[in-house]
Amino acid sequence: MLGVLGWPLEHSLSPVIHHAAFRRLDLDWVYLPFPVEPERLADAITGLRALGAIGANVTMPHKETVIRYLDDLSSDARSIGAVNTIQRLGDRLIGHNTDVDGFAAFLADDAGLDVSGSRCLVLGAGGAARAVVRALDMSGAAQVCVSARRPDQADGVTALAGRTERTDWATVAERVPEFDLVVNATPLGMNEEDLLLDATFGEGQAIVDLIYDPPMTPLVERARSAGAAGWGGLGMLVHQAAASLRIWSGQEAPIEAMSVAAMHAVSRH
Ligand code: NAP
Repeated sequence: MLGVLGWPLEHSLSPVIHHAAFRRLDLDWVYLPFPVEPERLADAITGLRALGAIGANVTMPHKETVIRYLDDLSSDARSIGAVNTIQRLGDRLIGHNTDVDGFAAFLADDAGLDVSGSRCLVLGAGGAARAVVRALDMSGAAQVCVSARRPDQADGVTALAGRTERTDWATVAERVPEFDLVVNATPLGMNEEDLLLDATFGEGQAIVDLIYDPPMTPLVERARSAGAAGWGGLGMLVHQAAASLRIWSGQEAPIEAMSVAAMHAVSRH
């Protein structure tokens, strides 16, 4: 038994993506959505131990608070300060963060982007932004600029990597043409908002919106119509799920089957 812990937990694609993989790998496993209120998180983690769960995913708002209930952390989870995957090893629960590998794998395998030597802009300063900044740093980006509405949060993210600085949220749209890659790691766009309404995009630029539902946000649509390359967040979602599955099963993940399941599920919403 595995599952995803979050609150609220509406329309999670994770059960569908993982069940597609379990079928393909012939694993007799079940993956369930577990809506867990913040004040019940400690009980839920005790429950995972008691029930002998293979592992779990953790999503908002538990990615940071769950750390205090775990026995150890991977280096990515420790440096980012957020966990999205729990692995049970006997009586011990280990926290991992597969968003780092998920974003790097999406860039390399789906987008075909080599970011070494690139100038990158990351919008937002939450767990996803931290994972993206770590992945960009590890992939050799020349410069990473972070912008968020709370400057102190953005400074916390810039501290994670070298060659990283903060840029002002109020004027960030003006700076967009300077960057090879722009990543939206805020929820702005889920409800048709365009957080870079005043920005101009051009050929040679790449825009990645981590939002996967809707699969195409106004930001990605506008960037594409200006000649830039644009992607939504479904690719990263599948790759981070694949990295979790590798941790739990020790097997190579069937990415294509997981991708098809994710695309079908999101198109049904
Ligand atoms: P988070 O930890 O809550 O961080 C969200 C960030 O966005 C924070 O910096 C927050 O600022 C900012 N933000 C929220 N509302 C805003 C607004 N109205 N105006 C300006 N900034 C705003 O969330 P997260 O886990 O990093 O996730 C961020 C997004 O990435 C979500 O849409 C999530 O679904 C997506 N995501 C996708 C994947 C994937 O696999 N595709 C993986 C992880 C996350 P404050 O701190 O000031 O609120």
